[in-house]
Amino acid sequence: MDTAKLPIQTQSRRWDVIVVGGGTAGAIAAISAARAGAKTLVVEALGSLGGTGTNAQVTPLMRNISGGVNLNRSLTDELKTRLCQRGDGAADKGGNDNWFNPEGMKYVLEQMLLESSGEPLYHTHFVVPELSPSPAGKRKVGGIIVHNKDGLVRLEAHTFVDATGDADLAVRAGAPFEAGDETGLHQAMSLRFMLGGVDTARLCTFLAQHGQGQESPQFMHFWMVWGKKSSLEPLFHQGVEEGLLKERDGDYFQGFSVPGMPGTLSFNCPRLDAEINDGADAWTLSKAQTDGRAAIDRLVQFLRVHFEGCQQSFIASYAPMVGVRETRRIVGEYVLTLEDILSCKTFVDAVCRNHYPVDIHTPKGQKLLHQRSGDLPYFKPDAFHEIPYRSLVPLGLSNVLVPGRCASASFEAQSAIRVQQNCHSMGEAAGLAAAWCAGEGLEVRQVDGLKLRQALRKRGANL
Ligand SMILES: Cc1cc2nc3c(=O)[nH]c(=O)nc-3n(C[C@H](O)[C@H](O)[C@H](O)COP(=O)(O)OP(=O)(O)OC[C@H]3O[C@@H](n4cnc5c(N)ncnc54)[C@H](O)[C@@H]3O)c2cc1C
Repeated sequence: MDTAKLPIQTQSRRWDVIVVGGGTAGAIAAISAARAGAKTLVVEALGSLGGTGTNAQVTPLMRNISGGVNLNRSLTDELKTRLCQRGDGAADKGGNDNWFNPEGMKYVLEQMLLESSGEPLYHTHFVVPELSPSPAGKRKVGGIIVHNKDGLVRLEAHTFVDATGDADLAVRAGAPFEAGDETGLHQAMSLRFMLGGVDTARLCTFLAQHGQGQESPQFMHFWMVWGKKSSLEPLFHQGVEEGLLKERDGDYFQGFSVPGMPGTLSFNCPRLDAEINDGADAWTLSKAQTDGRAAIDRLVQFLRVHFEGCQQSFIASYAPMVGVRETRRIVGEYVLTLEDILSCKTFVDAVCRNHYPVDIHTPKGQKLLHQRSGDLPYFKPDAFHEIPYRSLVPLGLSNVLVPGRCASASFEAQSAIRVQQNCHSMGEAAGLAAAWCAGEGLEVRQVDGLKLRQALRKRGANL
C-alpha cells in the first residue's frame, strides 16, 4: 500500500522488537524478548494483555500433561506461580494447576512485561506494514502504521512478532496463508460471559443431585451438549419447551468456577450460529457480539429458573473479545500436519511439546476426529509431538515471526496446538528469536533452531 500521501506521524524512537497483539502468545513473546535484552514494544488493540485468555475470558488453561509432566514450563510456570501467590490461580486435586482468574492474569502479565522493561502501547490497532526487499530476496517489514487516538502513527523495529491470532501483519505483508477446513469453514466461535452472585455451595449440591458431582465450590466444571449423555440434558429440554431457551443454546454449554472470584462462574458458551463463522471479519465479529449477548440473556434466565443457587445471579461481564478458535494460519517454512501429531513427530528445532488432542469445534457440534482411546501412538499417556521453530517463520518475509493460533499448521493440527500454554511456549520462542535477530543483525531464517531450543531449555522449557 502506498502510504506516502497519508497524514502519518513518525515516532522518533525505534525498537528492537515490536510485538503486534499482546494476547496469549504476544504478551509472553514480549516478556521473552525484553528479558533477552531487546528494546520491546507491544501494540495491543485493547487496554490489557492476555488476549483470548483474558479478554475472551477463556479459563482455565487447558492441561497439557504427558507422562505426569506439564509440557509447557519456563514463563508459563512463572505466570502460574505468580497467579497462585496472588490467589488468582489454583490447582485442583487432579494435579491440574491451570485454573486462573482472567483479571488477575491481565495484571500479572503486565507486571512481568514492565519488570522486564517492555512497553505496552494499548488501544492501538495495527493497520498496514511498510515493506522493502531484503538482501535474501524476501520482503522486509521496515515499519508498521498503527491507528490510535494520535491518528496514524509509524512505528519502526528490527524484527516484528505477529501475535494477532489472525496473522494480520504477516498476511498484509504478503505472506501466504490458509483459513478454515477444506470447505473454508472455520471452527465455531463463542461469546463467553461471567455470572456473578451465584451461591456455589447450593449449586454444587444441586449438580451432585443431577449427576454432576463437583470437587468443591472452588473447582466446579459442569456441562451439557445435546446427544452427549449429559445428565443435565432433560433440564435443557424443559428450558426449550418453556421458551426460555432456543434449541441451539444446548449445542454447547459449559461452566467453570474461577479462582479469586467466589460466587462467580465463567461460561464457555454460547456457541455462535454456523453463519457467524469468520472471526477475521469485522462485520461477523459485530454480529457475534449482538447474537451472543442475546443468547447469554436466554441462558441466564434459564439458569435463574432451573439451577439451584443461581436465583440471585447476574451477568458480571460479557467477554470484551469474541472467542475465536481459528481464522488464518500462515504457511511457514514448516506446516505441521495431522500426521505429525499422530506419529508423535519430533524436530531438532522444537520450541514446544504438545499432548492436547485434535479438538475441532465444528459450528454444528463438536467433532473429536481422533479419540483418546484409539490405538495411535499419540494417545499413550506419555506421548507428545513437537512444534518446530520453522512453523513460526512465514514464507516470503525476512523479519517477521508468527506464534500462537495462527502459526503454520493444517486445520486439524491447529486444533490441537492452539491451546493457551502452547501459545505461551511458541510466544516465548518467537520473542527470544526476535531479540537475537535484533541483537545480532539476523534475519529470522538465520536463527539456529537447535541453539534456540537449547536456550529455551536453559530457561526451564520442557524441550
Ligand atoms: C471459546 C474458546 C474456548 C477455548 N478454550 C480453551 C481452554 O479451555 N483452555 C485453553 O488453554 N485454550 C482454550 N482455547 C484456545 C486458546 O484460548 C486460544 O487459541 C489462544 O488463547 C489464542 O492465543 P493467540 O495469542 O494466538 O491469540 P489471542 O490471545 O487472541 O491474542 C491476539 C491479540 O492480538 C490483538 N490484536 C488482534 N488484531 C490486532 C491488531 N490488528 N492490532 C492490534 N492488536 C491486535 C488482540 O486484541 C489480542 O490481544 C479456547 C478458545 C476459544 C475461542
